[in-house]
Formats: sequence, C-alpha cells, structure tokens
Amino acid sequence: ISSKKLARPINVLLSMNRWNGRPYTQRYYDILDKRKTLPVWSQKDEFVKQLKNNQTLILVGETGSGKTTQIPQFVLEAVDLENQSNQKKYMIACTQPRRVAAMSVSHRVADEMDVTIGEEVGYSIRFEDCSSSRTVLKYLTDGMLLREAMTDPLLERYKVIVLDEAHERTLAMDVLFGLLKEVLKNRPDLKLVVMSAALEAEKFQGYFFDAPLMKVPGRLHPVEIFYTKQPEEDYLQAVIRTVLQIHTCETPGDILVFLTGEEEIEDACRKINKEVGNFGDTVGPLEVVPLYSTLPPLMQQKIFEPAPPPFTENGPAGRKVVISTNIAETSLTIDGIVYVIDAGFSKQKVYNPLDRVESLLVSPISKANAHQRSGRAGRTQPGKCFRLYTEKSFNNDLQPQTSPEILRSNLAHTILTLKRLGIGDLVHFDFMDPPAPETIVRALEDLNYLGALDDEGYLTELGDIMSEFPLDPQMAKMLVVSPEFNCSNEILSLSAMLSVPNCFIRPSDAQKAADEAKARFGHIDGDQLTLLNVYHAYKHNNEDQLWCYENFVNHDALKSADNVRQQLARIMYRCNLKLCSTNFNSRDYYVNIRKAMLSGYFMQVAHLEHTGHYLTVKENQVVLLDSSNCLNHKPEWVIYNEYVLTTRNFIRIVTDVRGEWLVDIAPHYYDLHNFPECEAKLTLEKLNKKREREKGCTTGIKGVSNKATS
Ligand code: ADP
Ligand code: MG
Repeated sequence: ISSKKLARPINVLLSMNRWNGRPYTQRYYDILDKRKTLPVWSQKDEFVKQLKNNQTLILVGETGSGKTTQIPQFVLEAVDLENQSNQKKYMIACTQPRRVAAMSVSHRVADEMDVTIGEEVGYSIRFEDCSSSRTVLKYLTDGMLLREAMTDPLLERYKVIVLDEAHERTLAMDVLFGLLKEVLKNRPDLKLVVMSAALEAEKFQGYFFDAPLMKVPGRLHPVEIFYTKQPEEDYLQAVIRTVLQIHTCETPGDILVFLTGEEEIEDACRKINKEVGNFGDTVGPLEVVPLYSTLPPLMQQKIFEPAPPPFTENGPAGRKVVISTNIAETSLTIDGIVYVIDAGFSKQKVYNPLDRVESLLVSPISKANAHQRSGRAGRTQPGKCFRLYTEKSFNNDLQPQTSPEILRSNLAHTILTLKRLGIGDLVHFDFMDPPAPETIVRALEDLNYLGALDDEGYLTELGDIMSEFPLDPQMAKMLVVSPEFNCSNEILSLSAMLSVPNCFIRPSDAQKAADEAKARFGHIDGDQLTLLNVYHAYKHNNEDQLWCYENFVNHDALKSADNVRQQLARIMYRCNLKLCSTNFNSRDYYVNIRKAMLSGYFMQVAHLEHTGHYLTVKENQVVLLDSSNCLNHKPEWVIYNEYVLTTRNFIRIVTDVRGEWLVDIAPHYYDLHNFPECEAKLTLEKLNKKREREKGCTTGIKGVSNKATS
C-alpha cells in the first residue's frame, strides 16, 4: 500500500475521540491548546510515572495550576479501565468538598474531553446523580463517596480515587481518609491521589504511608497587599467603597470579593449596582456577579463570562466583579482576576458538645485562607489585594490554619455512617485528627436516644433504616417513623422543603408585598407547617413559574424540593415504608404531622418561661424566636429546626408542640429523674400528675393523646 493511501485513515483515526468514537470538534483543539499551557502539563510524564510506581501519591499545586481539571484526565490516559473479573469498566473518581465545584468542574471537563456531561464524564452530589453506565470519570462530593462505600465497602467500581482539595478537611473527607487507608490495604490494585492547593505536606505523607509528594510549581505574579489603617466598623460598606474605588481609579482587570453568605452577597450586589448607576457613563460598565452554593447552576456559569465591553469604542474599559463565598478561594478558578477584596470573614461550622449546639457562625478566616484569597489576584498578571482589616489584626488575631471540620461538628450523622460501615470501634479508628471524646460520646448518646443505637452501641434495625437516608439522623428518624403517625406523605414533603434553600423571596423594594404573600401560606402553629402549605400550593398550581413569581416563592427551590422528595420517596419504597396521609379534614391531620416531627426532633425543643423568654430543654440556653416565624402566639413548647448563633441566640423554623407529647413520644429523653431543675421540669411534672389522674378515671384509653389543636 502506498503511503498516500494510508495517510487518510490514520489521520481520521487520530482525530477520533477515544471515549465516544466521534470525531473531535474544533472546540476540542482550541481548549486543548489552552490546557497545554497549564502548569501541571509540564509534569504530565512525571505524574504518570509516579502513578504507575506507587499506590498513593500526594500532589500539591497552586490554585489554577490545573489539578482538578487535568489530573483526572491524565489518570484516564494512564490506566487500563478493563475489569477482567466482571466485564464492566472501572471508573475514576475525583472528590470535591463542594457541590458547586463538582458540578462546575465536571461540565468543564466534559467540554475538554469533547463528550456530553452525564455520559463519559459525570457528577454525583446529594439528591442528584448525573452519570450513566458509560461514565469513566465521575466528580462527586466527598460525602457521596462515603455513601457509596455503604453499599460498596471496597469501592470496587473504582480504579483510581482522586481526593481533591484535601486541605479543606471536611468532615466526610476526614472519614474517607481513614476508610481509604483500610481499603488500600485490601485492594492492592486501587490507587489514591491526594491533591491540594496547600497542605501540611509532611502530616499528610506521614499519615498516608509516606507516599511520594509531587509539587507543581505555581505561576503566581506578585500581589501587592493593602491593609486598612483602622478596623472597619461595617465591612460591607467598606467592600462597596473599595469596589467603586478600584473601578474608578485602577487599571483594567476583574475584581473578586470574598464575603460570607447568600444574603450578604445579594445585598452587596444590589448596593454596588445602585451606586455605580450614579456614575453614569463616566466610568466603564460594571458587571456584578454573585457566587454562592445555593445559586442555580446557570447563574453560577456567569462567573466565567468575560467582562463587558466599554460603552463606547474608546470609552473606559468594562469590568467584572465576582462577589463570592469562600468557594472561589480554591475550589473554582476564575481567570482575569487582578483585584481581590478580602473582608476577612467566612461562615464556619461550630459545635459545642456540652450544649449540643451546632451552628454556622460568621468567624474570622485563618492566615492560610487570607493567603489563598490574595493569591487569586496574581494568576494572570501582577495584582492587588485589599484586606479590610488591619495588619496588626492579621498578625495577632488570625489563626495560622482553620481547624478540621471534624473537630467542630456534631458527629451523630458521621457515627451512624461509620456504624453502618461496620466500624464499631470508634476509639481506634485511624482519624488524622481524632475528635474530642466528649463529641463522640455525645453523638453516641443522641443516636441512642433516637433509637438508632442500642445501649451497647450496636446499630439497631431502626438505625440501619435511618442510615439509608442522606439526611441528618433527626430528620431521618422523623421520616422513618412517619407512617406510624399516618402522615409519611406530608413528612416527606416537609423533609424535602427543609433540605433545599429558603423558598421565600423578599426583595428590598417589595418587602411588604412579600410578607403579605408569605402570610397567606402561614400556618399559625408553625413554620414547618407553613412550608408544607407552600409545597402543597405549588403542586396545586401545577408547579407554575408565574404563580411562584406572583407569590414571592423561589421556583428553583421548589423544583429541587420536588426532586428531593422523589429521591426520598424512592428510599422509603426500598425500605418498605408506607406512604400514607391522614384525611385533610380530620382534626388529627396537623396533630399527626407535629407528633411525627417531634419523634425526630425531641432533642430540639425550647420552653417558654414565665419571664417571657425561651430556654432550650435540658441545656437551658436562652434563645429568641427568629422574627420571620409565622406563629400568631407564643407557644409554651416549640421544636426548632435551626439554632443560629450571633451576639444573641436565635431558633429558627419553629412549630408549636404539646407538653404531653414530649413525655409520650420520647419518655427516655424526658425522663424527669435525670432532668435539670427548671421551669420546664416543674411543668412536665404537673403534666405527668394530671396524666396519672386521667388514666385513673379513663382506663382503657391508650397513652397517646390525640387531642386536636385548639
Ligand atoms: P486547580 O484545580 O489546580 O485549581 P483547575 O483545574 O480547576 O485548577 O483550573 C485550571 C484552569 O481551567 C483554570 O485556570 C481555568 O482557566 C480553566 N477552567 C476551569 N473551569 C473552567 C470553566 N468552567 N470555564 C472556563 N475555564 C475553566
Ligand atoms: Mg482545584
């Protein structure tokens, strides 16, 4: 055969996509050129060699060097995915601490590989699996990988597991570390790559069998750091001022602002837009883009769009300002950032096992966070970082590192998972940083009160079913027992509503109308029942988007609640839990729902004292009812869904429950023999006495009171 004849078929073959057999598009080549300039590409061969020669590998490289998007693709090229034993293909997993990152990055990698998302490249996050039997590379949250281990203890579907963003040290990640060490011993063919932007390399190497460490040299330009002279009283105001200053005075380049959460970020966006409007076209256009985890995916994509062009041909340049939570610190890389504004705070989980309070608290970041944040300004050219705190405060007040989440979390959910995985001996589990014994004991106690563990600490049948649900144990318990209260349909809807972002919208220019709309859904006995009303109204109105808009409820939130509900219903079905409802016209309809709620949340109850304030039961902490509640009265007892720590402590999403129910439904927890002396105890004692008397005259009636609400 002449060489001329051969040339074409080889060419065609070379331009075929190995994964789906289709020819590559032009876009593939365009992106490929860009990918090849990323720092990790210069070490591709070395990485592949190290991967072949080692079971575990640690890789450290600056944010933006290409770890998350490129390394899993290098792995795909390097390993053989054929599984001889079962004819199936192995997969590669890459874990992410955040849902947003798992979704965003997998879309990007699907683009880079020229395949369709959900086919060869997929992602899996709680309540959403976007992968198929064709999937070879799956991005998933670390929590999801942990759940997979429940049904696949040796993670046999994977050939290589990449743990990304290891420096984040999420709760699930720390458990995975210990678990994977065991799995690696039992599966010599499995490989593990631990990646991070900045980790305590020696600590990790020591923990992971002295694995070799690869460093990807960064490509950072110098970043000039500015501190405020005086502490800022209102950092939000300072952010707005600084954004406007940069926009009017500094050379072109996009801005990245770090704030703490959705409300604050939306507020900042509004205020900046308003202020910049006053400048007219004396300054260039400013595109303000929010970024936080509950933002719908399409909106999240906006951070990658280029800055707007100038208003007129020779006018001042346009600029993009991304206002983000710490997602943009290391999880997502945004190109073109030259200015960083760091307010110095983030929302962090805190937990005190003594008063059982786990809460998100706006807290100062660590020096390591501050360093990462400023680094984002120097990716493409020299940049500037404005820290809205004093240099003295940076040096003296900030901790060097944020402590791992496992040291500041309620561990009930984690321990339930570990028990389910067959790890009974928690004291000897190989934690990288072992949690405090009090925290473990507290979690074991809580699970025992919930009936998930017996007195010896073994998983009960109930606990086994509870662990099937990707929910916190209290919610799982409420759901599992709801058929007994003849209201599992409603509790399913409620669980779904509580698992998605807040559905009520309250625009600053229409607060009154929004409040009136919310009041129309309001149930006088509580917010959980109000949420249920919203869900029912949404379904009743055929999930109509316009209806949502007119009623100030968030369509995306309700749509995802509907999706979550379906997923949970599937688990209910699998566990043989019946779906049922009390007749809506029955006096017991809401009573049953409230009792089912209490069966899960009896440890989150507050009592109204004579003085007019609430004390949490047993822990006796003073708490205030959040003003957004729908109650038209101050109930004597409430269950709450959330505890908010600020300068004063709030409980949020509350429902009225009856004292009698507490003793009926959770007698072991409301055992007055081990109850602190307080008003709540006196009241419960009185109730008990009354109960005894009633029982005396109406024998034959079962203990559970079915009195309808007044
Ligand atoms: P690392 O994990 O080391 O921080 P990544 O692999 O996340 O780095 O990102 C490498 C580069 O890929 C980024 O600098 C950016 O240019 C590009 N990139 C990543 N995600 C996207 C996206 N969704 N859209 C466009 N470019 C992206
Ligand atoms: Mg990354």
